[in-house]
Amino acid sequence: MALKNNGFATNCIHAGEIADQFGAPHTPTYDTTTFKFGSTADMLDVIEDRTPGCFYTRYGSNPSITSVEAKLASLEHGENALVFASGMAAISATLMAHGEQGIICLSEVYGGTWELMTKQLPTLNRHTQFLKANDIEGLKQHLAAGSSLVYFETPSNPLLEIIDIPLICSLAHSYGAKVAIDSTFATPVNQQPLTLGADIVIHSATKYLGGHSDLTGGVATAADDALEPMRNWRKNLGQILAPDSAHLLARSLATLEVRVLRQNSTALHLANVLQQHPLVEQVYYPGLDNFIGHEIAKRQMNGFGGMISIKVAGDGAAATKMVDGLQLFTLAASLGGVESLVSQPTLTSHRDLSPAMRQSRAITDNLIRLSIGLETAEDLERDLIQSLCKVGNMSDTGK
Ligand code: PLP
Repeated sequence: MALKNNGFATNCIHAGEIADQFGAPHTPTYDTTTFKFGSTADMLDVIEDRTPGCFYTRYGSNPSITSVEAKLASLEHGENALVFASGMAAISATLMAHGEQGIICLSEVYGGTWELMTKQLPTLNRHTQFLKANDIEGLKQHLAAGSSLVYFETPSNPLLEIIDIPLICSLAHSYGAKVAIDSTFATPVNQQPLTLGADIVIHSATKYLGGHSDLTGGVATAADDALEPMRNWRKNLGQILAPDSAHLLARSLATLEVRVLRQNSTALHLANVLQQHPLVEQVYYPGLDNFIGHEIAKRQMNGFGGMISIKVAGDGAAATKMVDGLQLFTLAASLGGVESLVSQPTLTSHRDLSPAMRQSRAITDNLIRLSIGLETAEDLERDLIQSLCKVGNMSDTGK
């Protein structure tokens, strides 16, 4: 059910839901791999699109899957969406389907994406050029040479870099290239890249969309013609999201807006607190007035998200001490869940980058990434302060 004139929160709950014969208020879980037919003629009507129906779950033809896809498409204002077994599956299907003439990757990206671009994709004749987002001349040159896809994250992992979506999209389109954006850090609550000119928007649904650190999934939303070749990669690489995970994702999306709005406000508060602390060398958060991407973020985002990165004064050991001293934040990879998480990117998400590569991207050993959850803001603040005090062997002010 497309709910064009309804608000975002209404669509989180109602869009895509399929009524069943028993009156269930939500789409049930169709935990089945296949669907039976009364006759060969009936089966062919479904396979050849003369009658609506389901055929085989790996193809994405399953009501639990198509229902959550319709919900996701409505949240991103896309024609359609495809769900995948992970964020990396969504990214790899996008790059396989649209990267054959060359990929241009702007600024830093999630370590797994970088590894895919540098190690696996070149063996499949998909080559990536890495550029800084402000290297507009370099971008024009590669577009003129025929690259077919510009790819970036905004905000980026882990330094929260903000890239001007309308600017890059209009430049890419003037050369006939498509733009794919990993919007995982923003969520569709805070940013809707398709409305700003992007062709494909990707999320690791493992993060905010799932929101409870209990499901692994991915999604790509776009116009049908961009999704069609990706659908075939998904089918034949076997990247489909399982129906029970699709159901769990739909359940989680119902609360997406309330979760993210709360994470936005707690993160903004904590970023301001951290910025005042003498043992914090730098805070990366798009909502801070003095953050380099703040003005662009204000133009293209509705809120600044729940991710904060900081550089602790000192070296990697100081950062590890801060991480290990936290009591409420959980030391774990990933992000976007109800519980606050902490990690050191050089030891986790960006571990596979060479030290020189990390250095050139300012991903230093003293960098800490915080994913702000739904706990009471004052409790998180107290935890951060007590751990920073331990790093500096300072006395806790008792706040
Ligand atoms: N994109 C971003 C920005 C991420 O942070 C991650 C994982 O951390 C991914 C994609 C990959 O997602 P998944 O682990 O669901 O494959």
